[in-house]
Amino acid sequence: MKKQENESFSIDEKKLELYNEMAWQERVSKKQMEPDIDISSYLVNQGFEIIRADLPDSITGILLVDETNEEKPLKVIAIKKGKEKPQSRFIVAHEYAHAFLHKKGTLQFAHRDYENLANNQQEQEAEAFARCFLMPKELIIPLCTKFKEDRDLVNKKTSKEDLIEFVRNNFDVTVKKANQRIRELKICEELHVPC
Ligand SMILES: [Zn+2]
Repeated sequence: MKKQENESFSIDEKKLELYNEMAWQERVSKKQMEPDIDISSYLVNQGFEIIRADLPDSITGILLVDETNEEKPLKVIAIKKGKEKPQSRFIVAHEYAHAFLHKKGTLQFAHRDYENLANNQQEQEAEAFARCFLMPKELIIPLCTKFKEDRDLVNKKTSKEDLIEFVRNNFDVTVKKANQRIRELKICEELHVPC
């Protein structure tokens, strides 16, 4: 069973559309429309503290929010030290997604993520929101379209791997996340790239 692969696709299209909309609104309202957004600075500007920590082996990231003291709210995202930049960026986006989607009205909220993400709704939602935030439809589709068109002009064939590489470089994400996003947005089908 390819459980791992299917995990991120069990989010339904409507929800994905909604998350994309919410994530894009966030970015537009803060004027952060560049593909390789500096997510740490973005969140620091919103009062988060981002820490790189020596977390236990199985743990990738932790979110801790405590707003009981209104004057001194605590919003911390801890990510495991030693991860490559594209991975760290995604973990930060994933923790932010929990704060954005799941904290709701509570003043205190904590969440912990493991290397092997639990296959439950909250985790899939956080993953989907993180993909939408780091690779908004409004950026990835026009950029991929232009990439393909420029290659067409010089009679260069475009493969799915070329698209993944392009997205990985431009959005500073891992191959795996680039691939997931391309698939969920059906970019290959859209651009007539063989998948
Ligand atoms: Zn999570």
